[in-house]
Amino acid sequence: MTNPAFFQVAIDGPASAGKSTIAKILASNLHYVYVDTGAMYRAITVAAKKAGLSYEDEAGITALLPSTTIEFKPGNPVQKVFLNGEEATEEIRSTEITNNVSLVSSYAAVRSDMVDKQRQMTEENPVIMDGRDIGTTVLPDAQVKIFLVASVSERAERRYKENKEKGMDVDLETLKKEIEARDYKDSHREISPLTKASDAVEVDTTGMSIDEVVNTIQDLIQKQQ
Ligand code: C5P
Repeated sequence: MTNPAFFQVAIDGPASAGKSTIAKILASNLHYVYVDTGAMYRAITVAAKKAGLSYEDEAGITALLPSTTIEFKPGNPVQKVFLNGEEATEEIRSTEITNNVSLVSSYAAVRSDMVDKQRQMTEENPVIMDGRDIGTTVLPDAQVKIFLVASVSERAERRYKENKEKGMDVDLETLKKEIEARDYKDSHREISPLTKASDAVEVDTTGMSIDEVVNTIQDLIQKQQ
């Protein structure tokens, strides 16, 4: 194992476990760059939609990759995401994109392109990166690896509240089913499925407040610095 030039924190876990909320706060507290890799897979899914492609069209989506740019810019409460220079912050979170991103992110060319882009983002700054395969594949030498989990009911409730605040009306049972379906697809795909790295620390956030989770992980990071 080689120590990366800049400090790396990998946070993986199933859908809606609170990874991005926690990672964003930690990045701001520690002055690290936050990389939301799920947003990148969502953006390429939007690119497929905009190009009029079926989400099943692996060859067509693969052909889009060389000309697709994805950028993050600071924003509140979420980072802004730009796809080919156009803002796509809201569109990447739509129900259609959420329900098709697992298929698009299972394609080999999509994964290798995203992983290259993600590794490039670690070259000049310490990072906190969240996703599904960060500890296992993208940053195998990360100094801190966290696997964040929570019960499906609690994850669905968190997503329900978030959606309500955004004016999206999806019932709790449907959200629960969507989350379970996405977890199943993400854990069963052939290439770098969602799985806990052998050296990751599992943190179960069921019943924990955001502050408690942030403090737990920040302690783990500070012990490694
Ligand atoms: O993190 P988020 O829920 O926004 O991720 C959206 C989807 O992107 C996941 O359900 C998964 O299919 C894909 N993803 C992935 N690998 C990552 C991050 C996300 O395959 N590192």
